[in-house]
Amino acid sequence: MNPVLASVMEPPPVKLAPEQPPFALRPEEVESAWQTNLEEGLSAAEVLERRRIYGPNQLPPGKRDSAILRFLLQLHQPLVYILIAAGLITLVLKDWVDALVILGVVLVNAIIGFLQESKAIRALDSLSKTLTTEARVVRDGEQLEIPSEELVPGDLVLLQSGDRVPADLRLVHVRDLQADDAALTGESLPASKTVDPLPPSTGLADRSNQAFCSSLITYGTARGVVVATGKETEIGRISELMAATTDLTTPLTAKIEKFSRVLLIAILLLAAVTCAVGVWHGQTLVESFKAAVALAVGAIPEGLPAAVTILLAIGVSRMAKRRAIIRKLPAVETLGSVTVICSDKTGTLTQNQMTVRHIFAGGEHYHVTGDGFALEGEVRLENQPLDPTDLPPPLRETLLAGLLCNDARLELGGERITVAGDPTEGALIASAAKIGMQHDAMLEMYPRLDAIAFESQHQYMATLHRHGQRRLLFLKGAVERVLPLCQKQLSSEGNKQDFDAERVLAEAHNYAARGMRVLAFAMREEPCLGIECEEPLVRETLSTGLVFVGLQAMIDPPRAEAAASIAKVQHAGIAVKMITGDHALTAATIADLLGIEGERDPAGKLRALTGHQVSEIADADLPAVANSCAVFARVSPEQKLRLVRALQASGNIVAMTGDGVNDAPALKQANIGVAMGITGTEVSKEAAHVVLTDDNFSTIESAVEEGRSVFDNLTKFIVWTLPTNLGEGLVILVATMLGITLPILPVQILWINMTTAVLLGLMLAFEPKEPGIMNRQPRDPKTPILTRILLGRIVLVGLLLLAGSFGLFEWSLSQGQSPEAARTVAVNVFVIASMFYLLNCRSLAHSIFGLGLFSNPWIWVGCLLTILLQLIYTYVPIMQTCFHSAPIRPIDWLAILIVSIVVHLVVEFEKMSIDLWYRWHPAAPRP
Ligand code: ATP
Repeated sequence: MNPVLASVMEPPPVKLAPEQPPFALRPEEVESAWQTNLEEGLSAAEVLERRRIYGPNQLPPGKRDSAILRFLLQLHQPLVYILIAAGLITLVLKDWVDALVILGVVLVNAIIGFLQESKAIRALDSLSKTLTTEARVVRDGEQLEIPSEELVPGDLVLLQSGDRVPADLRLVHVRDLQADDAALTGESLPASKTVDPLPPSTGLADRSNQAFCSSLITYGTARGVVVATGKETEIGRISELMAATTDLTTPLTAKIEKFSRVLLIAILLLAAVTCAVGVWHGQTLVESFKAAVALAVGAIPEGLPAAVTILLAIGVSRMAKRRAIIRKLPAVETLGSVTVICSDKTGTLTQNQMTVRHIFAGGEHYHVTGDGFALEGEVRLENQPLDPTDLPPPLRETLLAGLLCNDARLELGGERITVAGDPTEGALIASAAKIGMQHDAMLEMYPRLDAIAFESQHQYMATLHRHGQRRLLFLKGAVERVLPLCQKQLSSEGNKQDFDAERVLAEAHNYAARGMRVLAFAMREEPCLGIECEEPLVRETLSTGLVFVGLQAMIDPPRAEAAASIAKVQHAGIAVKMITGDHALTAATIADLLGIEGERDPAGKLRALTGHQVSEIADADLPAVANSCAVFARVSPEQKLRLVRALQASGNIVAMTGDGVNDAPALKQANIGVAMGITGTEVSKEAAHVVLTDDNFSTIESAVEEGRSVFDNLTKFIVWTLPTNLGEGLVILVATMLGITLPILPVQILWINMTTAVLLGLMLAFEPKEPGIMNRQPRDPKTPILTRILLGRIVLVGLLLLAGSFGLFEWSLSQGQSPEAARTVAVNVFVIASMFYLLNCRSLAHSIFGLGLFSNPWIWVGCLLTILLQLIYTYVPIMQTCFHSAPIRPIDWLAILIVSIVVHLVVEFEKMSIDLWYRWHPAAPRP
């Protein structure tokens, strides 16, 4: 049929329209009302059809302040008030051109600020979009992970603790499910969920059988049917709640705000004095007032707030390029001051490429060959491969337990086998495959009846299976958790015998001391008759009649780049702590391999404290322990929180990684909470300041390095910009005090400030990292940005600018030049000397020649444009009308150049002498 005709004849899309709300229906009724299947989910064809009808599962974009409002807010700054007032009064004095220029500058400044802020917001927004959420669904009977935009009503979704609910769901199966619906209901405590139907009149907050889009699952697991997507969801309907907030304030911008207010008062006072002195010198009120205006506009660093925001935003995008996504802007600043990095082990410091190497079962040690998750390899006893058809029962059950008590899947991704799910479980599938146990075939022979998912705080997982007339329970987990639950052990003949827990523990220790992760396996077998078979698993009765079957020990090699990164941060004065859920010995061995520095025991091994030991240390003593010890093992999320607090109590700035749902409080408490982009739960990402897209420790190190560099560039900008304001303020002040003609007029001051801030100052944002940035000690956030040395430099350059511009102005007049030409010389002194001083500011401590002249090409672009603009300012007639400028002689340019070079050389000499002083006084702390 003609496709056009076909599309015309196609029935219009029909949305599902159940008569009752989903929470009032029973699960089976939900199944038929949403035309889905509670076991198999939707079919691929049905999904396509529904996507056509319902569109993607996207929330409408959040509302934010309108552009006009954001533009007007640019004017809402104390320093801008002065400019507006000055402009308006100049207007009243009928000084049209000056008034226009002053108000024009206010406008241009607001436009630049607005554009920069919008750019910063856009950059932050697009970063948050790169962190898309994934949803786990069952379609055509298969479990899949898909981007949550692709969900359609009727989809069967799986939830587990740490997930963000991807759409509105009617729950059809729950196990201990608790969800935090605060975003929707305002209820701060997590709500327990059930599957029972509720009366149709039930209010939103009481719909306990629903999970709502955007809520966070804080505990348990569940299955639910999607009943609403996108803007049809409860959160989508009240999208005002989702007002997008990209907060651009940071501790530094807040400090600058405060500084501006103090400056405002100081400038007003000085302006009043200037005015009074002018009148006293016998000038007219209007003239004196003009001098006061000049002083005010000169001393105001107009560009500073906008420049700081844009510098921070540039830092954010640089960090994103190095795979650290900044979620909260203040983190950019804080990263540079980090003194301790607390990192987990598995996946961050190690490769998370688990491979089972040893099995201990029935009193025998088995060796497993093969690499990674590859299925090739053998299980050997005394170097002889085993016959898969005649395996000793404990070995068989250990491998079977590992295979069945398992939620992972191995997938062939290109050349390599990769794991979907927990790599620890992937390794167990691979080890079982090496004696011919296939995952799918075994699951068919032993269908799963129920499961208790792995949660970090319990450190075990259990599953229940049917096999003929028997019910089998398998349990796997941390050795210390599993062994106390076991009552018997499986003998090499397959009988139950007395459990020798001490022997098993000793074997587990041996493996752990070699850096291996050890899991213990146990099982229980019981008859399964009729209704009993349906009984669900409960934690309380797990241990009844439990039989220990064996241990599997796996290697997880350290990441190749981790040792180098650790060495680098330790060299930079940052301590590294390993805080892991794994065994103390495993952790200490890996930490040793990675070169982590910390307290050692008499045998020379790194001292590792367990969470239990930490819990016995009093709050007052913990800071000392937390500082000296570098490895903390079997640590629970609450203990992580205590450790962060203890480290902070001794003055540390702490970066802490976390991935689990319960890590959120520790991540929030840390100065920099770091979440894992790949393995981390949504809850942890939400709480974190930074998300690593590659889960890699080295990325934290890069982010710290970038953080230091951003702070350097901010400081450089401030140190560069303030002398100009100081110099301008001083020129006006001195001229008024002496009662002579002003060497620069208000409009000229504004010209200087605007052109240099944009064309010169901002180029510092592109300054590459200084050499040796990671050889310095961390910056103490309590020390002011401007140290005494830098303040001294600002005053020095301010005075030099005063002397240079004043001197050349007077010299020019004495040569018979017009006041306009003499002022043009003074303006050019400010601009060209700022340009030469910019070169000094490329490094706060080193000489520019050591940096490489062209390592920041933008500086040269800025300089060229500045020179061009100054030529236009000096020689183009329209500029002469607007800015009262006049052509100047070549000899004037030469004099300007000489003054500028002198400024540059004096600052270089000052830097050099300070450097020499510190070399002679190595003990003196460098600020
Ligand atoms: P890190 O905190 O450095 O990421 P980790 O992965 O060992 O280390 P957890 O995930 O909290 O931390 O695991 C704690 C312990 O629980 C592990 O050492 C292991 O003994 C056990 N374990 C880990 N994964 C599983 C699992 N899927 N099933 C059962 N037990 C597990």
